Amino acid sequence: MEIVKKSGPITGEQIAEKLSLTRATLRPDLAILNMVGLLEARPRVGYFYSGKSPYQVIADELRGILVESVKSIPVVVSEECSVYDAVVNMFIKDVGTLVVVKKGGLLEGVLSRKDLLKTTLGGHDIHNLPVGVVMTRMPNIVYITAGESVWSAAKMIIDHEVDALPVVRKVTPPDGEEGWEVIGRISKTNIARLFVELGEGK
Ligand code: ADP
Repeated sequence: MEIVKKSGPITGEQIAEKLSLTRATLRPDLAILNMVGLLEARPRVGYFYSGKSPYQVIADELRGILVESVKSIPVVVSEECSVYDAVVNMFIKDVGTLVVVKKGGLLEGVLSRKDLLKTTLGGHDIHNLPVGVVMTRMPNIVYITAGESVWSAAKMIIDHEVDALPVVRKVTPPDGEEGWEVIGRISKTNIARLFVELGEGK
């Protein structure tokens, strides 16, 4: 990198010579540096420095990982579901956030652990109290589409101080009302898992 920064554009042959190596020995290293975007190569001209810091290269890579590749199956309930059943669902499905949907699987609201805890503290009859009364409701839900980056999801989770986002797809039925169909869920856990996998070089 230092040689290219100082003397680029420079051919692979010339770099090899400066390092007292053969061009063949150097080829895989140059290929990797080129692939990750630190070095650029132009035929008959040689290698030159892309101007990107390794952090920018990592940032580019990160923003290329899509929600689609890490999202989980959403755990959904209807607005009429009782707070009691929602708590049971949360335990059985082992999730911290439930997505509330209406007809057609369209996004209606979100229920967090604390929404449910708060309700149970309030002395309500949780067998007869529908989650529609305690959930956070559209249009106040922060959601994401599968084609957006995991980085954007992480940023939204941090900015809005929530644990998870519903992953949605826009639907416009010919006769019905337009909405957001829930097709997944992305949580802090998905992002932590991805981080671990990246650290393992996967
Ligand atoms: P907890 O309440 O268990 O700490 P969150 O931080 O996710 O979990 O939730 C905080 C509040 O934000 C809750 O009232 C919840 O309904 C709401 N909330 C959770 N996720 C979202 C979301 N994606 N969009 C909007 N509001 C949300």
